[in-house]
Amino acid sequence: MDWYYLEDNEEVGPFSSPDFQELFNSGRINGATAVRNSEMQMAMPLDQAARNGLTDDLTLEGSVNCPTCNASVRSQDLIPMDDIVLCPNCRDQYLQTMREGIELSETGFEYASFLIRAGAYIIDLFAVWIVQAVVGFVLGFAIGIAGESEALANALSIVLIVLSYAIPLVYATLLLGNRKTQATLGMMALRIRIVDKRGGDCSYLMAFGRYFAAIISSIILGIGYFMCLWDSERQTLHDKMVGTYVIKK
Ligand SMILES: [Zn+2]
Repeated sequence: MDWYYLEDNEEVGPFSSPDFQELFNSGRINGATAVRNSEMQMAMPLDQAARNGLTDDLTLEGSVNCPTCNASVRSQDLIPMDDIVLCPNCRDQYLQTMREGIELSETGFEYASFLIRAGAYIIDLFAVWIVQAVVGFVLGFAIGIAGESEALANALSIVLIVLSYAIPLVYATLLLGNRKTQATLGMMALRIRIVDKRGGDCSYLMAFGRYFAAIISSIILGIGYFMCLWDSERQTLHDKMVGTYVIKK
């Protein structure tokens, strides 16, 4: 008897009965694999072929049924995972579902309210302001000393201007993009953090882009921020632009 099995809709074979048996014993094929022998018109799962009495030349004993999809598999191929047992057939599907299926709304997270986010924002304003004040004081002092040299004083003034813009950008990017924090100081203080649409990490790139998106939220009279008030997922405009959410810890 010649046997074939289907892989990616391509028929593989022919195999003699002993060779086909070896494919099963090795775990290459299992009860859920679509198979066909030279007497069958069309392929069907090996288990179904066995039930239809078409596998008399094979020994499927010693196999067990996968508790999840019920296919015959070798017991050593069963994989305990979380609170279920999977075989190689249903594992890929399960992992795929894990990766793609879970939306943030299903994970039980609670979105941070507008008021909590506004509180975090004010704390961040102060934090950034303190850093800017310290840098401004040190550079201002240096500019004063360098007053004799106009060129040096001008250069330091330019550094001061650049830093005043860079500090809030670096602050937001490093704190929001860091896997360990995923929150600015204000957000940490109020026990909220930023996530992506699957509840995963906000990357440095997302945090960087979000900073500039927030500028757009500001220049339209702050409406981008207030959007959080009526958005069902409590997103601001800049959250929507980069795909971030702010949730309670
Ligand atoms: Zn299974």
